[in-house]
Amino acid sequence: MYYPDDTVEEVRIRSDIVSVIGSYIKLKKTGSNHMGLCPFHNEKTPSFSVSQSKQMYHCFGCGVGGNVYTFIMEYENYSFVEALKFLAERAGISLPEKEYSDRERRQVDLKIKLMEINKEAAKYYYYQLKSDRGQAAKEYLLKRGLQEEIIKAFGLGFANRFSDDLYQYLKKLGYEDGLLSQSGLVSFDEVRGGHDKFWDRIMFPIMDANNRVVGFGGRVMGDGMPKYLNSPETAIFDKSKILYGLNRARRSRESYILICEGYMDVIALYQAGFTNAVAALGTAFSQSHANLLKRYTKEVVLTFDSDKAGTAAALRAIPILRDADISVKVVNMEPYKDPDDFIKSLGAEEYKKRIDEAKNSFFFEIDTLQRDYNMEDPEDKTNFFNEVAKKLLYFYEQLERNFYLDAVAKTYNIDASLLQRLVNKYGSRGYRNEAEAKRFTTTRAQGRVNKDEGIVKIQKLLITWLTDDPLLYKKLKALLKPEDFTDGIYRDVIRLIFSEYDKTGEAVAAKIISCFQSIDEQSEAASLFNAELLGEIKEADRRKALFDTVYRLKEESYNRQSLLAIEENDTELLQKIIREKSDLKKTIAAIL
Ligand SMILES: [Zn+2]
Repeated sequence: MYYPDDTVEEVRIRSDIVSVIGSYIKLKKTGSNHMGLCPFHNEKTPSFSVSQSKQMYHCFGCGVGGNVYTFIMEYENYSFVEALKFLAERAGISLPEKEYSDRERRQVDLKIKLMEINKEAAKYYYYQLKSDRGQAAKEYLLKRGLQEEIIKAFGLGFANRFSDDLYQYLKKLGYEDGLLSQSGLVSFDEVRGGHDKFWDRIMFPIMDANNRVVGFGGRVMGDGMPKYLNSPETAIFDKSKILYGLNRARRSRESYILICEGYMDVIALYQAGFTNAVAALGTAFSQSHANLLKRYTKEVVLTFDSDKAGTAAALRAIPILRDADISVKVVNMEPYKDPDDFIKSLGAEEYKKRIDEAKNSFFFEIDTLQRDYNMEDPEDKTNFFNEVAKKLLYFYEQLERNFYLDAVAKTYNIDASLLQRLVNKYGSRGYRNEAEAKRFTTTRAQGRVNKDEGIVKIQKLLITWLTDDPLLYKKLKALLKPEDFTDGIYRDVIRLIFSEYDKTGEAVAAKIISCFQSIDEQSEAASLFNAELLGEIKEADRRKALFDTVYRLKEESYNRQSLLAIEENDTELLQKIIREKSDLKKTIAAIL
């Protein structure tokens, strides 16, 4: 259920974006904007810009942007309704209660309660580790080389041997059984009643990107099974959307993020000074993980175990990351198994060197592939190069493919033109295995959207100009139609701009953004209003630019329309389009 547009707009207007964002990050006034370090990607010099007059933000580094709602949704990981509620409360506006469906209310309340319970449990485990009962656990951690301050920093704890200690503790704090059972920390059965999920384990609180405890991992100290046990999925714990350590890694000032296999790796790396490591927990690295990471970095370095399982995990993660437009490298930790082993043996400096030398993921894939072939055997060798050729087809951009092709040819001593011929052979056969076909089409679809920059840029410019200038809207109203803009977000936004002008005489970008309910849509919509921010145009050139822009947009639109008319054999319509098109220059000149 949604709140009325007026309420959404009132809350937005009363939540000044500079003051709201300023309560999260340090902003400094520069010119007409406020600048700060972007909280959504790692950077050392500020490229995060907040505009008071526009009530919008934009990051020149990673491209995120939006209004005050977008920021709260992104930063706090809230849904639109949650962000609205949060900002309303902050601004002292009481929301019409009944607009919240009962189910939504229960869901929000449940999440808040579950976070409270997890936080209490984390405190409880932490004090257990410090108590006499936790003596053995503490010694175990110290023996594994963890320093006291690291144990404290990560809030490590201990679940003792008594199987209902936590349950009794939480009950005393007043939490009801029904709620405790939904926390995943306590189970109930008829024989034993309430009992703890974790006992006799070292406890690792798992936090989301915003430092809230959402679950736990528990590790046995001896040889018990399973070695690692995680909280089950709950209303606040979705394994596919959590990366252990991200709350710290996102704040490290490195440009890349390290991905390792588990809690202990993250902690060991942190202790050695690598504060930018994360790990997926109890689940393979997924597309959701990649999307999450993408908010904070454009580059990751994989440091999975150097055994067979680790290599397989890396090979699975690479295409997922690459599809999310994240560049991937792979650290070679040979002859050691994991980051901890490596650093204990050769030291942090040597490990840093390995990061600097980390191999581009494509070469990692090829090298791993090559291990399955005997390069002394002509037939095997031929098969290997055939496989390489297929892999090269993954690169959609000719230039990029050629670069990799040349590099492979050099490394494996094969004539580049021979390899090229193999690539052509598979390319012309339309060879793709199923997974790659899927990957290829998504990459290509993205490519089309990203790279068809001409028309995209034109539409962005017009949208920005139209929002800033009511007079321009009046001039262009008769000529431009929403249908002149490409399908999807452009058309939606231009429709909203037109209807805002017709209703109120002005179009406020920050208001229009609130009409979209997901972060992705809001961010995309916001980017349409930022065209000029990205390249200022001198006033003198403005009329010419405007003319060209409108001309190209209409021309493109006429082209699309005539194709449709031809398809439908509508000669009358086609002639009308041709007439209008040939008069286009005159028409625009008369208007502007
Ligand atoms: Zn950014």
